[in-house]
Amino acid sequence: MRTPSLHHLFHPDNIEEYLGAVHAGASHLAATMARVDGPSAGASPAEAAAPVADIDLDVPTPGLEGALEELSRVYLDEAIWFHEPTYAAHLNCPVVIPALLAEMFISAVNSSLDTFDQSVGATHIERRLVEWTAGRIGLPRKAPGRAQVGVLADGIFTSGGTQSNLQALLLARDTALARSHVDPERLRILVSTDGHFSVDKAARLLGLCHSAVVEVASDESHRMLVDDLDRAVQKCLSDQLVPMAVVATAGTTDFGAIDPLRRIARCCARYGVWLHVDAAYGGGLLASRRRRHLLDGIELADSVTVDFHKTWFLPVSASAVIVRDGRTLRHVTHHADYLNPVEATDPNQVDKSLQTTRRFDALKLWMTLRIMGPDCVGDYFDAAIDLAHEVHAEITDLPDVEVAAPPGLSTLVFRYRPEAGTVELGALNAQIRAELYRRGNSMVAATKLGGDTWLKLTLLNPQATVEDIRGVLEEVRAVGAGLANVAPEVA
Ligand SMILES: *Cc1c(COP(=O)(O)O)cnc(C)c1O
Repeated sequence: MRTPSLHHLFHPDNIEEYLGAVHAGASHLAATMARVDGPSAGASPAEAAAPVADIDLDVPTPGLEGALEELSRVYLDEAIWFHEPTYAAHLNCPVVIPALLAEMFISAVNSSLDTFDQSVGATHIERRLVEWTAGRIGLPRKAPGRAQVGVLADGIFTSGGTQSNLQALLLARDTALARSHVDPERLRILVSTDGHFSVDKAARLLGLCHSAVVEVASDESHRMLVDDLDRAVQKCLSDQLVPMAVVATAGTTDFGAIDPLRRIARCCARYGVWLHVDAAYGGGLLASRRRRHLLDGIELADSVTVDFHKTWFLPVSASAVIVRDGRTLRHVTHHADYLNPVEATDPNQVDKSLQTTRRFDALKLWMTLRIMGPDCVGDYFDAAIDLAHEVHAEITDLPDVEVAAPPGLSTLVFRYRPEAGTVELGALNAQIRAELYRRGNSMVAATKLGGDTWLKLTLLNPQATVEDIRGVLEEVRAVGAGLANVAPEVA
């Protein structure tokens, strides 16, 4: 029998190998970052595909150096860098070093948060963080040293807001079904037109009917109109439908709008409807010293989504779904004889999760809180929001830029609109975005308003300055002016 070469295993015998790899990797990363000049290298999909396609995966590289050099060619050279101050496209954050330190332990120890016997210590760290987050939200939690009584908040870390929303809506669905034996075809979810698409996806995955998601209109600041919500709930009831959940968004993806949470909660209480707050974006305000009040009313939710990999500056993935009444998590409990048999008494996190094997992502939040502290995290998000307001104050003075709405949090939707000429603005702005990416100095996102393409700045970099974003806008306008001369006139 041939003995395989075992020096690749993470093991005390191979610690020199491990340290060598970590140091070489970190040095390579540092050298790469030192060369980064702008968020993108502008590669087209075809250009980025070629070096990957060229690799013969059956033949490994001769050594670490070769592998790292190859990594640059297939990945790092074309990667998008979120720490660049002119990266202003999607809800990606620059990441904090304490979380990177945590990543090293997460993957090396490789705890799996499904059962206690695979994650001793980790289970309790995750539970403390769930309790801590619930406390920041203002949900009922266990007082230290006191016996548990009544409803207590609980929750679980997930892979992201999409999964958190799915799980919350699953709990809402099963709570509604447990209360009355309705035909699932009659279940409805109410969400504003600005809510996240993952709500529609969740409805589909939960087997609800194609008209299960009822859209409620938003006002001009993209906040849900509560009177319309009230009418929509009443309409459901009078049509013999069952409103199983209202999804309020605390920070819409495009406008950062925070739905009027307290008034929505009152509406939900009136009709006994589950309130889910999607705070995937706005959840960072839970750590803010200056803007926590923007989430007033979130403590009335039945469930809350918080994405730590957005406004808490942690690397992907890190999210949590937190529920007011931890007992509702039983709706995702399944007992497997080999894992968490029905008679098990261990604190098995799999009982509360849609996943089985699960990363110890909670450690990234733990190390971040222990090294930076929550105030510092909140200050980072506040800095991004401050920047959005400063940029907004300047952008409204630009003659050839149109702003869709003032920033709710740290995004700004706008478009380039030349003073002269009758170019098709949607196509022009889409071209501007593509050209910015190709040039590589700055990146903005695009979204649609009334069918037209607009541009979007998503600011999540506490290091970015008004000058940086002024530069982005100057490039948008310069590129736009260049394109507008050649853009086809509208007939
Ligand atoms: C980003 C986002 C989501 C989805 O979260 P993922 O972590 O990307 O799965 C859901 N809701 C809102 C409001 C978001 O901004």
